[in-house]
Amino acid sequence: MQYAFPPRVPVVPVAGRNEMFPVHRIYCVGRNYVEHAKEMGATGREAPFFFMKPADAVLPVAQGTVGEMPYPGMTSDLHHEIELVVAIGKGGKEIAAADALQHVWGYAVGLDMTRRDLQGEAKKLGRPWCTGKGFDNAAPIAPIHRIAETGAITQGAIHLDVNGAKRQSSDIGKLIWNVAETIEHLSKYFELQPGDLIFTGTPEGVAAVRRGDLLEGRIDGLGELRVKIV
Ligand code: MN
Repeated sequence: MQYAFPPRVPVVPVAGRNEMFPVHRIYCVGRNYVEHAKEMGATGREAPFFFMKPADAVLPVAQGTVGEMPYPGMTSDLHHEIELVVAIGKGGKEIAAADALQHVWGYAVGLDMTRRDLQGEAKKLGRPWCTGKGFDNAAPIAPIHRIAETGAITQGAIHLDVNGAKRQSSDIGKLIWNVAETIEHLSKYFELQPGDLIFTGTPEGVAAVRRGDLLEGRIDGLGELRVKIV
């Protein structure tokens, strides 16, 4: 069997190893911290909802380097959303929360970059979010840390600074739907596969960035993600 052209496999480096994690799908959770849900106009606890980015929207940033994200076209309101990313190593459907951690391969710091103006227009018109969320380089991500080394992550500080000034600051413990519950819900809709990434939602403080800005995200135990908008 021959390919018409070489298939492209999006990959993310694995922290501290000469190994790449091949990306299958990128799932994202909307409104998963109370204060961010409020800033986006929601009230009360609602069931988690999901959207997707294409797998090749990843912008992998190697340890100790600064990734370069080109400012995308068709927007004048590009927002940052710092997020805990869960990497799936074992697939499955209808996974119970109690079993969910057996499916987790590791964790990373990620950014769910968003063309907020396009997303807002899509919401208003009842249209899909693809152009607001699923564009090229919309998912910068730092190396994945294996759960064998980090243990289960259920709390810990999550931060984003832009040009050295604090923009987002919260704790993983404040997730409305924690990682295990998120996997339980998501796997009712989709059969999870090895290589899936789940962006678990962002805390409050989302805001616009411009060309030249330096974004520095951190999550306790997972190191740093540094991205410059170019
Ligand atoms: Mn998000």
